[in-house]
Amino acid sequence: MKTVSESSALKRLSDVRDKLRTLVAAGYEHRAKSCIACDTPGACCLDEHFVNVRISRLEAVAIGNVIGGLPSGKQAEIVTKIDDAIEKYGLVDTNGDPTKTFACPLYEKGTGCLVHTEAKPMPCIQHACYENAADLPPDELLDDAEVAVDKLNRGTYRSPQPFLPIPLAIKRFGMRG
Ligand code: SF4
Ligand code: SF4
Repeated sequence: MKTVSESSALKRLSDVRDKLRTLVAAGYEHRAKSCIACDTPGACCLDEHFVNVRISRLEAVAIGNVIGGLPSGKQAEIVTKIDDAIEKYGLVDTNGDPTKTFACPLYEKGTGCLVHTEAKPMPCIQHACYENAADLPPDELLDDAEVAVDKLNRGTYRSPQPFLPIPLAIKRFGMRG
């Protein structure tokens, strides 16, 4: 397999993200509950019994780049939230356990998802609140995006990369310096 530089892979990752976002918005999102009118904004990101999003090394690097561009005080605050989440929810010992859930440290009250525009994970792009299960986007949309992400990871790091809970992935791969 041809090696892809990390910076080039990050651009391609952005294309995968944009494609998924466009497909979800065009075909499905209009049937979901409006987040703007939500009575419990952020419940989807902060429910420690619900959030189980796993991301790859490359996605963690993309998120780390967004965090790295924030003012230093805000960066320190987020790093603390990430560390706290790893400890509180026992995420270091997940060993691939998909039932380990957590409140996402990237959600900010009043702002929303800190990485919404530049580095939102694929499952988060796919997620919305639908009244009817029949209106949900098909799993294949997310599966295709995650296959593309996995391919980018293999091409960049020359080996399969684990999909880890968001806080742990950022801690392992997204924090530089
Ligand atoms: S996804 Fe659902 S819970 Fe989250 S903000 Fe939107 S409507 Fe509210
Ligand atoms: S990455 Fe963003 S959208 Fe996904 S769970 Fe965290 S705050 Fe919510």
